[in-house]
Amino acid sequence: MALLQISEPGQATAPHQHKLAIGIDLGTTNSLVAAVKSGQATLLLDENNQAILPSVVHCGAGKITVGTEACPYAKTDPSNTIISVKRFMGLGFADVKNFKNCPYNLLENGNNLLFSTKMGELSAVEISSAILHKLKIRAEKSLGDELAGSVITVPAYFNDAQRQATKDAAKLAGLKVLRLLNEPTAAAVAYGLESGEEGVHAIYDLGGGTFDISILSFQKGVFKVLATGGDSTLGGDDFDQLIIDDCLATLGLGELTAAQMQKIKRLARSAKETLSSKDYAEFNCVKAPYRISKTKFEGLAGGLIKRTLRLSKRAISDAQLEIGEIKEVIMVGGSTRMPLVRTLVGELFSKPVLCSINPDEVVAKGAAIQAHALAGNKTQNQILLLDVLPLSLGLETMGGLVEKIIHRNATIPITRAQEFTTFKDGQTAMSIHILQGERELVTDCRSLGKFELRGIPPMVAGNARILVEFQVDADGLLSVTAAEKTSASKVDISIKPSYGLSDLQMEKMLKDSVLFAKSDIQTRQLNEAQVEAQRTLEAIDSALETDKKLLEKSMLKEIISARDKLENLSKSDDKNAIKSAIKDLEKSSEEFVEMRMNSSILQAMQGHNVDEF
Ligand code: AMP
Repeated sequence: MALLQISEPGQATAPHQHKLAIGIDLGTTNSLVAAVKSGQATLLLDENNQAILPSVVHCGAGKITVGTEACPYAKTDPSNTIISVKRFMGLGFADVKNFKNCPYNLLENGNNLLFSTKMGELSAVEISSAILHKLKIRAEKSLGDELAGSVITVPAYFNDAQRQATKDAAKLAGLKVLRLLNEPTAAAVAYGLESGEEGVHAIYDLGGGTFDISILSFQKGVFKVLATGGDSTLGGDDFDQLIIDDCLATLGLGELTAAQMQKIKRLARSAKETLSSKDYAEFNCVKAPYRISKTKFEGLAGGLIKRTLRLSKRAISDAQLEIGEIKEVIMVGGSTRMPLVRTLVGELFSKPVLCSINPDEVVAKGAAIQAHALAGNKTQNQILLLDVLPLSLGLETMGGLVEKIIHRNATIPITRAQEFTTFKDGQTAMSIHILQGERELVTDCRSLGKFELRGIPPMVAGNARILVEFQVDADGLLSVTAAEKTSASKVDISIKPSYGLSDLQMEKMLKDSVLFAKSDIQTRQLNEAQVEAQRTLEAIDSALETDKKLLEKSMLKEIISARDKLENLSKSDDKNAIKSAIKDLEKSSEEFVEMRMNSSILQAMQGHNVDEF
């Protein structure tokens, strides 16, 4: 299916003019950079012809080293060698306090955290930017010109804070970010799925230390992440461990030294990789020969693979789909080179998996294709990949209620505005509280930020016109503007929540919204009635204060009695009783309202004749 045009009218590039743009797979263990060259997504190599840049940063005294050269420091200087900075992106100190085996000296810095290193105190953003900078230099050298922009991939489950941190890192590295792209979406683009029919795809990503499964739908030119799942502690290393355990048991070896262990880990990994193409592998372990057949290894590995299958099934059911509804299954990550993984995943989905593109490179290649298109270059399929908002965004309104401005699953980028007004006479300021979530009450949603709009000219309650605009950019980042229309007062804020939501928290928020839907609606209706009661009481009190004199005693008594009845009920939890008391008060003050109107007309006319009006 032909997709939407990317270039804005008038912005299309001239024929033959090629804008250089790169795709970056910023991985936990390894990073890669690719670009479209002669119409083909191609990995860009370093001076040693290596595509893979280990995501390792050594922060030494006065010198930062990145990549392969930084790797040896992981052993000799572990506290200054950050080996998986991606795990720290967008997190606060409280989030990482319980990270296991974390050799770094972490410092609390407000809501953020810092790594205390020989190079000084550095944020995850700064460390990540060192990796991106290295890839940028490689790309510029390799492409021989300045870059028009980049697309950087992030896991589908990354929240706002993690995405913002990634963007900040890119900016710091001097890279223009055309778009952050979900990793599974990048893989789907690399396979050209956006040029096929609409459907749902599974992206099975088994790397060195993590397993991710994403269920992606492709409809009307939009890739939507329907569900994600996985295990952040299951990956190729666990398969290596199977060989290590078997080797130690077969050779009857006891405790090994750290150096011996390090060596056997390397040998086991290499043996595992050999078994992907050979029937057996062997190596010398502490001087004794060890040999393992493919059959034996596969017997050991089956359990781990089945765990990934269970997680895949769970993600499919989270997406409320049946396995048979999955059209294509894409293999991502080095560990999907194991033939048994491909076979068992294929069996689960009853179809051959897509694995023709190198599983280490598929994400970077997809990102490069997207970058190429976004930079304005002509592509075979003019693709515009859109994402959707994972949770609704809204504002706090009176009564502790949330008014949703942009609903969940809206396609981004998006801008939505809504008008609000003042609650009290003469109100000159308004608090704007931005919330995220599906529930009706502020207390059940997540606060993203608060700011105040001041300088509203004093007016009668309900007369001010405050336009609040929510703008979510293509990367899911929100800016909010509030302006009073009759005056110049205006404020804006960009939301960069310093604490993000984990996948699980997000899932809980969504589940809760369904679970509590009925009681939330009831609470909302009650709160709305209470707010309406409060507003009516404020209005009648203000009217009585100025114009009580217009009323006869009996009428005043009737109004006051209806007013007091409403006041007594206004805090109760009987919404129908509140509503009917509001009606009663409105009815008993109908005549009063008319009298006030007449009196103000008379006042306005004093000293003028009718013709002037
Ligand atoms: P990634 O994180 O995607 O780079 O994947 C790294 C993991 O893939 C490591 O555990 C590697 O041992 C594993 N891997 C790479 N090549 C192979 C292969 N041919 N067979 C099995 N596992 C492999």
